[in-house]
Amino acid sequence: MFKALIVEKDEETGKTSASVQQIGEDRLPEGEVTVAVEYSTVNYKDGLCIGPGGGLVRNYPHVPGIDFAGTVEASSDDRYKPGDKVVLTGWRVGEAHWGGYAQKARVKADWLVPLPAGLDSRAAMAVGTAGLTAMLAVMALQDHGMVPGNGPVLVTGAAGGVGSVAVAILANLGFEVAAVTGRPEQESYLRDLGASEIVARDELTEVTRKPLEAERWAGCVDAVAGAMLGRVLKQMKYGTSVAAIGLAGGAAIEGALITPFILRGVNLLGIDSVMQPYDNRLRAWERIAKDLPMDKLEAMVQPATLEDLPQLGKDILQGQVRGRVVIDVN
Ligand code: NDP
Repeated sequence: MFKALIVEKDEETGKTSASVQQIGEDRLPEGEVTVAVEYSTVNYKDGLCIGPGGGLVRNYPHVPGIDFAGTVEASSDDRYKPGDKVVLTGWRVGEAHWGGYAQKARVKADWLVPLPAGLDSRAAMAVGTAGLTAMLAVMALQDHGMVPGNGPVLVTGAAGGVGSVAVAILANLGFEVAAVTGRPEQESYLRDLGASEIVARDELTEVTRKPLEAERWAGCVDAVAGAMLGRVLKQMKYGTSVAAIGLAGGAAIEGALITPFILRGVNLLGIDSVMQPYDNRLRAWERIAKDLPMDKLEAMVQPATLEDLPQLGKDILQGQVRGRVVIDVN
């Protein structure tokens, strides 16, 4: 028997409820690799899957948890053997498949990545999908010519999971970082991570009709979209790029015009972590081990247990989680 957070759905009312239960290994889904999970984490999507489902969960009862790290217990695939340390993010695990909010998980070998040298399973979950996505965004911006010394790089949703990791990585790489937050009380947290400028969320949420604004940003990691992305695009410096990673502020790009693209050569780079090919995942995890200072990562961590998840799920949907939550499933 092992512990798992099980989400059940009342078919009559359509309401879901989540509770920690003891279940047998025979309940695990099919897959080549069984992992003794050590840590998991909480992302925005997890908030949806712990709670109402958000259209992501296919079948109930369900075990959410889009990320986990742990040790291989059994494997029928040559790439993994018992004792190997592994990390999993994405591939719709925790949504369409049972995920990491349990002491055991069974998954396809293709979905796993060996834990990179320099990271233990707890650090890997302090990073999680949020941190991996932040790294993929920084890599895409660098691949499109972003270099230090060209002015501030903007990070939106900065006190959130993706934003916090993006701020720490960019500052460590020598970029000047401007952090947008709607929580002014998080200023010292963001400055400690490496932000040199704090931008109030309100400054960037008014939709304007101007085709362009004064050039301010040398790059942007955007977790918010909505009206903010519409404004930010008009403020990008000539030939720079925005990495669009999230939609915390809305699924549309409000007030967006074509002008930044055709008059300033601005690029909008889409970042997806879920179906990211294996080679680029490895590259990103290796870059994380090298470019993300562990003391900064630790400063973002809020430790928690499986029992805390129903509340944490609600908190993250309301934008109330700071940095990264690490779930010790044991
Ligand atoms: P968090 O909830 O940790 O962070 C989101 C942050 O956005 C909040 O902390 C808040 O930052 C800001 N925010 C929230 N609501 C609003 C709003 N209405 N208007 C403006 N800002 C807002 O989530 P994550 O960092 O884990 O994820 C961020 C986004 O990225 C989500 O939309 C998520 O679904 C997406 N995502 C996408 C991935 C991909 O593969 N592309 C992978 C991971 C996440 P502050 O308080 O500082 O203003």
